[in-house]
Amino acid sequence: MEWCLTMPKIELHAHLNGSIRDSTLLGLAKALGDEGKIVFSEFEHVILKHDRSLREVFKLFDLIHLVTTDHEIVSRITKEVVEDFAAENVVYLELRTTPKRNDLIGMSKRSYTEAVVNGLRAVRTVDVDFSSCTAGGPPTPDCRNNSCAGTAKKKIYVRLLLSIDRRESTEAAIETVKLALDMRNLGVMGVDLSGNPIIGEWGTFLPALKFAREQGLPVTLHCGEVPNMEEIQGMLDFIPERIGHACFFGEEEWKKLKSTKIPVEICLTSNIQTNSISSLEVHHFEDLYRSKHPIVLCTDDAGVFSTSLSKEYSLASSAFGIGKKEMFHLARNAIDFIFAGDGVKKALTHTFDSAAKKLD
Ligand code: 5GP
Repeated sequence: MEWCLTMPKIELHAHLNGSIRDSTLLGLAKALGDEGKIVFSEFEHVILKHDRSLREVFKLFDLIHLVTTDHEIVSRITKEVVEDFAAENVVYLELRTTPKRNDLIGMSKRSYTEAVVNGLRAVRTVDVDFSSCTAGGPPTPDCRNNSCAGTAKKKIYVRLLLSIDRRESTEAAIETVKLALDMRNLGVMGVDLSGNPIIGEWGTFLPALKFAREQGLPVTLHCGEVPNMEEIQGMLDFIPERIGHACFFGEEEWKKLKSTKIPVEICLTSNIQTNSISSLEVHHFEDLYRSKHPIVLCTDDAGVFSTSLSKEYSLASSAFGIGKKEMFHLARNAIDFIFAGDGVKKALTHTFDSAAKKLD
């Protein structure tokens, strides 16, 4: 569906290392194989496999991190991921990543995140706005160098979310929140809780998430990826600004979600490929969409699941019988759920208004 590609879209749930291009991942793995640091044939087999269980997905992430966690590579991947989203007319991207520390190569959580920001600065195919200058704040050096001059180039707004990995301790989670606060002027907008859902306890992360809230940082949570009802209830009681997935909700959880109107980031291909949801016919997208609950279509891990945001729109349109105009409205409604401020919301409204005129 060509119109899914050409219409403006908003991506709110994309993990940096999950969005890596296959070609980049294979190239990096090949280089490490040549150096004798990994066995390339084994790596290649895992990368090229599709339909992985959630458990296998997390094994794959460990492999991906093995070849990507280096400052230069992190910058390169960030640049490529932003260029790929911009090429399919994503006009606002909230990119999330887990700041990583690796003492062996002198990497701290801060230097990792700075490498991500350097990747944003390196993008050439599109103007990247990643600071708060268009949101009504004072101009920053990044505005002047890069993004805010009225050039004719296509433009994408990129904001960052720092992820807390469920393997982390309370202290490590608080460190990530503090880093997010420190880097707000470089486009960090909020925090995410992700990582293997069968690892870690909700209570471990709550102090860090409460601290984020006290400091005015919005929070999004991976919620209900496994049937842990106590945790789902705890997460919904926290009333995060958004949640992702919501695959294993029972009647009570749906009731609570709908009454609180927490927006849900829906990742169709990811949910199906990991077998979290058995088929699109029974996917909760349809109920949430028909009951006008706030939702946004997202990719989750475009590289790992071989998808794109346009493909997710196309999939939803054909699976649930939703026409072009309604899909356009679905995309536009996501403006209300972004973590960036009113200035960006206004600019995006203008973008969608202009695109609406060309819709027929
Ligand atoms: P990164 O944070 O390294 O840029 O992106 C990969 C990481 O995102 C994974 O190691 C994992 O912690 C998190 N992630 C990616 N996809 C998923 C998902 O579907 N569910 C959860 N819970 N975490 C994910």
